[in-house]
Amino acid sequence: MSNQLALQMLAKRGVTLNDIAEIVLTLQLPYNNALTKEECAESVLAVLNKREVQFTLYTGIALDELAERRLLPQPLQEIMEHDEPLYGVDETLALGIVHVYGMIGLTSFGYLDKQKIGIIRDLNNQEQGIHVFLDDLVCGLAAAASARIAHQNKNVTDYAPETAQGN
Ligand code: MG
Repeated sequence: MSNQLALQMLAKRGVTLNDIAEIVLTLQLPYNNALTKEECAESVLAVLNKREVQFTLYTGIALDELAERRLLPQPLQEIMEHDEPLYGVDETLALGIVHVYGMIGLTSFGYLDKQKIGIIRDLNNQEQGIHVFLDDLVCGLAAAASARIAHQNKNVTDYAPETAQGN
């Protein structure tokens, strides 16, 4: 299946399907207490099946890897090494993953970017390696998979952005 290469690339960078599924479950459980981690993993796989999502992953992960090997031109190399907070291109790229799923995905992305739960926090705290793009890519994948579940959940009517951001 076409999402296998994307999964392998993520695994090589220390992120598993289970890591992302756990974040999706945390996001969606307040709205759907029958939801399982398996369903969340399925949703992540569906997001990873989209070619534009795969292209986004290839691009972001390549930049992280090139920065680790000190192969980027200046000033980009320096910006990546310091994970310059005002850089912002990492978030902009990852937002491409979320866009397909509308406002719920966007709200969840903003929430994850701030709260940094699960593997996102681990990536951010990691001393070794450069994960400037990867943390945002994981936020994007989890937010998109979460929004996808929300759109399929016909029992839920209160998906206002402020609700999604609460608890
Ligand atoms: Mg980042």
